[in-house]
Amino acid sequence: MSENMFHQQLVRNVWCAGRNYADHAKEMKAEIPKAPVVFLKAGTSVTSGSVIHLPNWSKEIHHELEIAFWLNEKLEYSHFTLALDLTARDAQADAKKNGLPWTLAKSFTDSCPMGQWLDIDSVPSLETLQLELKINNETKQLGDVTDMLFNPQTLLNYIKDHFPVAPHDVILTGTPAGVGPLKNGDKLEAILRDKTRPANQPLLVCQWDVN
Ligand code: MG
Repeated sequence: MSENMFHQQLVRNVWCAGRNYADHAKEMKAEIPKAPVVFLKAGTSVTSGSVIHLPNWSKEIHHELEIAFWLNEKLEYSHFTLALDLTARDAQADAKKNGLPWTLAKSFTDSCPMGQWLDIDSVPSLETLQLELKINNETKQLGDVTDMLFNPQTLLNYIKDHFPVAPHDVILTGTPAGVGPLKNGDKLEAILRDKTRPANQPLLVCQWDVN
């Protein structure tokens, strides 16, 4: 599949795992889930742009850095990248309090910035992937795939068992601890590493400016 096949417009559904890192579940004062927690972001919430626009109706847009996987025609993982599951935390807190859906908090316009897709065969194993988010040069989030409560393949199996998964769907695998609010002027740098490679040779670096 050629690189331009991965244009953001081709993303169909975005299935997202919530609370998939125990340290993040704890910081949200949520229970450690016994089965995957899954919610949707609209495929049209995906953006490949490098500028993050904060919606004016929220006072608290949080960053959640996640590893994203692309599903091919066989509904297998074929590519991966980094994504931000931007979250209107104030709207989410209201929704939780009132027992309402999370759509406003999770699926607003441009709420899913994504990096460039890497071929899954470019790494020997998914188990050695590590993600890091720096804001204004300070590390805010750092996590390993091995910290996930449900690993990427378990998530995929669960999602396929329960939902109408289609080719060109994307799965977001949850965020490690350290989520927090973004403000205008913030400079984000997200790094994806394979820990079997030298630390100064990341697989992918994504940069986003908040404006
Ligand atoms: Mg998330």
